[in-house]
Amino acid sequence: MTTYSGKSVFGGIAIGKLCVWQKKESRIRRVRIEDPDEEMERFERAKKEAAAQLKDLYDKALREVGEVNAAIFEIHQMMLEDGDYNESVENIVRTQRVNAEYAVASTADNFAGMFAEMEDDYMKARAADVRDISERLIAVLSGTGSPVTVSDEPVIIVADDLAPSETVQLDKDKVLAFVTVHGSPNSHTAILARTMGIPALIGTDIPLERQMDGKPAVVDGAGGCVYVEPDEDFLDKMREKQREELDRKEMLQTLKGKESVTVDGKKVLLYANIGSLRDLSAAMENDAEGIGLFRSEFLYLESEDFPTEEEQFLVYKTAAETMAGKRVIIRTLDIGADKKCDYFGLEPEENPALGLRGIRICLTRTEVFKTQLRALFRASAFGKIAVMYPMIISVEEVRRIKELAEEARRELAAEGTPFGMPEQGIMIETPAAVMMSRELAKEVDFFSIGTNDLTQYTLAIDRQNPRLDAFYDPRHPAVLRMIAMTAANAHLENTWVGICGELAADTELTEAFLKMGIDELSVSPGSILPLRKKVRETKLSGS
Ligand code: PEP
Ligand code: MG
Repeated sequence: MTTYSGKSVFGGIAIGKLCVWQKKESRIRRVRIEDPDEEMERFERAKKEAAAQLKDLYDKALREVGEVNAAIFEIHQMMLEDGDYNESVENIVRTQRVNAEYAVASTADNFAGMFAEMEDDYMKARAADVRDISERLIAVLSGTGSPVTVSDEPVIIVADDLAPSETVQLDKDKVLAFVTVHGSPNSHTAILARTMGIPALIGTDIPLERQMDGKPAVVDGAGGCVYVEPDEDFLDKMREKQREELDRKEMLQTLKGKESVTVDGKKVLLYANIGSLRDLSAAMENDAEGIGLFRSEFLYLESEDFPTEEEQFLVYKTAAETMAGKRVIIRTLDIGADKKCDYFGLEPEENPALGLRGIRICLTRTEVFKTQLRALFRASAFGKIAVMYPMIISVEEVRRIKELAEEARRELAAEGTPFGMPEQGIMIETPAAVMMSRELAKEVDFFSIGTNDLTQYTLAIDRQNPRLDAFYDPRHPAVLRMIAMTAANAHLENTWVGICGELAADTELTEAFLKMGIDELSVSPGSILPLRKKVRETKLSGS
């Protein structure tokens, strides 16, 4: 057995095989082609190769996991021959005179979108299959080998680092744990791992060699170690630890349906942070009282092009309807810094964290912003949506946003399109917003304090830089004073205030936050019940 150590991002024990993540070479490019016949021949050859790969996988699975589990590879072979699918690829190649990779990717998006919206659960699940066969075809076409998820068995992903866009595209049911060589605990990839609630390590000294692929391993998320090729005795010990964890989880289940209230009666709302609709089930399973932060930018990161108003509307509407009357705070697009979207065509920057990001992009690309606002206002007719704007630094910005929001609503009204009037709030994540919080509170319905960025900007420490991890201290008294100041100013103007940065889940600070009068804490779904336990054990008076 070999032990490698790293830094813990999320606890838990995972036991399974390693899978070394091969970075996909950038996004699929749209390339103009001269000869569509030749391109279609290339596509046909790729199909044959993909079918051969699937046949091999079927035979292997049949031997190893039996006929029922192997059947999926047979279905994939049939899907490769689907008439509508092939017709769509051919149409795109011939009418747009573009490369087959692009035609396959567009077809996959359209078909997967269609399947995902179907009522029937079986049909819904076909969305993943269309993506799967399409990725295989693209991998063959572009000569990058087979895609990562070649087996149906869940694996421990080992990577140099993972971009948020890569993490978000992984099939979550197939990932037992993340182990990366680089990365920072404050990065969005780490945040996503927490949202998924699976063991995750960063800064791990594990070699990224092909030979590691398929080796049995154990990840101890809390202990910060990955054990490769463990012996039976050790495996038994870890299985025992896994069982203990399950017991703890079961104990927490008893808190479901209970109020988040202190011993002396102070109530606080415990909401969930999510990155996509897929996280809603985790939010509900963990009894979230609402969604405190829906990072809508992941919708943009998952797409190859700007998501349309209709696509966004469906996502926001589904979130609102699924949460059935509970508040769903959707944050408008917050790309920039580590969250990069190629199709925005943004120039590289010297200091991306201090650059064109979040609301600054929205206020300079108002057409993109208004598309999102229209989708949000329309969706809010179907549930309790609240809209939240990131990276605010001034009252003027908020007034400009309100003008644009008003414009979007006027347009909808003129068209006769139904829309709602959601609460509007801002993130307090820059020192400027804290200092202006009394004035800002007059402009909005609520605040949500983003401690990840507030720590970065208050301490002047890049949250992405792993070399600065020892200095990045979200519990720094300066940060805590800023939180207290924000809460006090908000309440002077009858504006409610929450925290949605990672610090909200820090149970050592729960009592302090409640004493400051924080009204809501929004955390990754897996942190809700431990936090409820802490709140219910806390007594504010007389301490
Ligand atoms: C924050 O900055 O605390 C926050 C919640 O936003 P993000 O982590 O997405 O920047
Ligand atoms: Mg932020």
